Amino acid sequence: MRECLLCGQLFLPELNLAELFVFKGKRKENLCPHCWAKFEKLSAIRCMVCSKNLSEAGICQDCKIWQKQYDQQLLHHHSLYRYNQEFHDLMVQYKRYGDYMLYGVLRELCSKQLMKIDYDFYIPIPSSPEHLKKRGFDTITAIYQELVPLTPLLKKLSGSSAQGEKNKAERLNTPQMFYVDTTYRNQHHIEIHKNNKILLLDDIYTTGRTLYHARDSLLLENPNVTIESFSICR
Ligand SMILES: [Zn+2]
Ligand SMILES: [Zn+2]
Repeated sequence: MRECLLCGQLFLPELNLAELFVFKGKRKENLCPHCWAKFEKLSAIRCMVCSKNLSEAGICQDCKIWQKQYDQQLLHHHSLYRYNQEFHDLMVQYKRYGDYMLYGVLRELCSKQLMKIDYDFYIPIPSSPEHLKKRGFDTITAIYQELVPLTPLLKKLSGSSAQGEKNKAERLNTPQMFYVDTTYRNQHHIEIHKNNKILLLDDIYTTGRTLYHARDSLLLENPNVTIESFSICR
């Protein structure tokens, strides 16, 4: 029996022999079936650029804003779940109250999907130095570190407040806050080549401001690479 990380109920993880070998420690063992059902998968009709659910196929309003700024250079974004009340509550508990163990829930929600994709570099969106100090862990690294090999090449400037505390207009006007950590890059001999594919990893895509800034800072030094992004919800 396992104890569900969200509701505390004991449950029997489903035993699927094929998955047991392929996913090793990544099968469904942190969330009971009842809690799993609270998370709503994105439906098939979605924005062709950023995965947002739409009533008819096309491009969403957020991406139209980015189109004005970036023209054809839109960021192709992959996502899995709708940002519903359950997701909101989970993220408040994880990020605002720093409940570290909930990384196991978030990891479980996206592990199967991440096993299926292949990029040359997986770069996590970093926390600000202030948040890192306050929580004692990096929220994005904690979710993804057991799923894919991470290259923590980006750093966030201190003094940059969290996107979650802003309204939409403020989010869109947030100045660039990321930079490439050249010390890390040199120490670890990270070489990004022309045709490499990079996946940026975040938890939530709200306006896209954070991920576009992260991409911009990487493109400054690596103008010819392909950069896409992933978040658990949209
Ligand atoms: Zn549960
Ligand atoms: Zn979109």
